[in-house]
Amino acid sequence: MVQPRKQFAQHWLKSEKALNTIVKAAECQETDRVLEIGPGTGILTRRLLPLVHSLLAVEIDPDLCKLLVKQLGERENFLLLQGDFLTLNVPSQLTAFSKFQKQNKVVANIPYNITGPIIEKLLGTIASPNPEPYDSIVLLVQKEVAERLYAKPGSRSFGALSLRVQYLADCELICSVPAGAFYPPPKVDSAVVRLLPRQIEIPVNDPKKLENLVKLGFGSKRKMLRNNLQSVVDRDRLTQLLEQLEINPQVRAEDLSVSQWVTLVNLGTGDWRLGTG
Ligand code: SAH
Repeated sequence: MVQPRKQFAQHWLKSEKALNTIVKAAECQETDRVLEIGPGTGILTRRLLPLVHSLLAVEIDPDLCKLLVKQLGERENFLLLQGDFLTLNVPSQLTAFSKFQKQNKVVANIPYNITGPIIEKLLGTIASPNPEPYDSIVLLVQKEVAERLYAKPGSRSFGALSLRVQYLADCELICSVPAGAFYPPPKVDSAVVRLLPRQIEIPVNDPKKLENLVKLGFGSKRKMLRNNLQSVVDRDRLTQLLEQLEINPQVRAEDLSVSQWVTLVNLGTGDWRLGTG
C-alpha cells in the first residue's frame, strides 16, 4: 500500500461499489478517449483501460508516476503526463501521441482542494467556454460541492458556482459515497456527479457582463438582487426589468434560473454600468 500524502490531497478510493458506479456512469465505449486527473495508484485507471480506446492520465506526484509507469506502462492505450493539471497545457504535450489527443470524456476521483479550478478548466467559463467540450465528465467530489453543482434555483445550495456550471452543462447526481469508502477517510462525505456539457440554450449577448453580474449578484448572501446590484444599475430600473420578466422585484440572486439570468442581462443591455466589458 502506497502511503497517501496530504500535500496532494490523496485519498485512495477503496470501495468496489463506488468504483463500479463511477465506471458505469462513464458509459465507456471502445472509441472513447478518456482523460483522468489524479490517477493515484491507478485503481480506477485499471478498470477503465480495458473498456476504452485510450486513457490519458495527469498525475502531479512523481513517486506515483514511477509506480504507474512500472505497473501500467506496457499498456498501449495508456499515457501518463506528470504535472499539475491546472497549469499543464495538455494538447501541447500530445503532438507526438495522436491516439491520446482530443479526449472526449473525463472520469476521475479528483483532489478536492482544487475542485473549482478543475471544473473551470474542463468546462471553461461563461465568458470563454471550452471550444471543444467533452461529451461527459464524471467526477467524484465533495458532497457539499456536488449539491451545489446540481442544485435547483431557489434551493439552499444554489449559488454562483451552480449558475456558472449550469450555464455550460447539465449536472446530475449519480450517487453518494461515504467517507469510509476512502483510505484515509476524508473529513467529508463525497458524491459522484456527471456533467454533460451542452449547447448554450439562450446565448447571452455579452457573456463577460453576465459573468460580472453573477459575481456581484451573489456578493452578499441572502440579500435581494437589487441591493447586491445597486452599484451597477438603478434600483428602479432593475425593478422595471424584473417586472417586465414577471419576476418578483424582491428576488434574490439564488432564486433566478440560468435562463432568467440570461434574459435579464440581455434585456438590460445598456443599463449595466460595468466599465468596458
Ligand atoms: N484517483 C485515485 C486518487 C485520488 S486522490 C483514487 O481514486 O484512489 C487525488 C489524486 O490527485 C492524487 O493521486 C494526487 O496526487 C493527484 N493530484 C493532486 N493534485 C493534482 C494536480 N494539481 N494535478 C494532477 N494530479 C493531482
